[in-house]
Amino acid sequence: MATKKKTARAKPKRRLNQPLGGNQMPRFGGPATMMRLPQAASAKGLDVGFVGIPLDTGTSNRAGARHGPRQIRAESCLIRPYNMATRASPFDTLQIADLGDIAINTFHLPKSMAIIERAYDEILAHGCKTLTLGGDHTITYPILKAVRKRFGRLGLVHVDAHADINDTMFGEKINHGTPFRRIVEAGLVDGKRCVQIGLRGSGYADDDFDWSRRQGFRVVQAEECWHKSLAPLMDEVREQVGGGPVYISFDIDGLDPAYAPGTGTPEIGGLTTMQALEIIRGCWGLDMVGGDLVEVSPPYDPSGNTALVGANLLFEMLCVLPGNVPRSSRAKGGR
Ligand code: MN
Ligand code: MN
Repeated sequence: MATKKKTARAKPKRRLNQPLGGNQMPRFGGPATMMRLPQAASAKGLDVGFVGIPLDTGTSNRAGARHGPRQIRAESCLIRPYNMATRASPFDTLQIADLGDIAINTFHLPKSMAIIERAYDEILAHGCKTLTLGGDHTITYPILKAVRKRFGRLGLVHVDAHADINDTMFGEKINHGTPFRRIVEAGLVDGKRCVQIGLRGSGYADDDFDWSRRQGFRVVQAEECWHKSLAPLMDEVREQVGGGPVYISFDIDGLDPAYAPGTGTPEIGGLTTMQALEIIRGCWGLDMVGGDLVEVSPPYDPSGNTALVGANLLFEMLCVLPGNVPRSSRAKGGR
């Protein structure tokens, strides 16, 4: 029987949410939340929240990313809590939950932008960081508006086949081909601390990517990534984008369609899943303040593989957020 003294001495410990284990409920059963975490109605008390944005009304070609969050959650059921490569163990130290989806207005894109920004303002006000399940890439603009208000001017790691820096598309300023032009114009990022990785394909003009370069961005075209490890690149990226808060925006079409066919604007000659892991793991040590994984369009990949890749990349983002205390660092002094 525990003595009174012992109870009094015990430090009040915060009970951290854990993903529902595969030995408690079969992985194909139970509620389909992100990583089988508890769903939370509010961000109060959370360090990190997964948020879905089922929006694809900003897409220019094949739609379907509105179904992204739900399928990413479904495919995330196989992800276990520990990162076997980096030994990150986010659920040991961070309070994490699934905050559900943002109730966007699917008939009104500009109104949806305002809804998203407001929702993120509220989440971030609780001191909770967000990892977002997209949704097409339009959503990164209102998210970053809120993130900028909370954390200040941002550095950016943007992985994509496309630069997404058009001024307008079909005369419209807000869509999935323009967010990074808007983000620069609004002063949300420090151009010198921005990198775009994986850009490729055919352009509207031969100097399409040069606008980014003129803003101070480092642009790493896909061809520069072929046939090699991106770990050395990430050593340089950390140098470039560090020194302040950093956000990662990962468009699944940055990967080759062989790995991620379920997306709206596929381009051949893309990154591998191994390179995606190197990029995200290479963000470890930066002051990461959030991330998103966008453009998963389930109708174009009935196998579910694209969403599976997306779910795993979101887990990898979780594993590089500050506050992770990798078990290896206790044992081996680093990772
Ligand atoms: Mn994009
Ligand atoms: Mn893209």
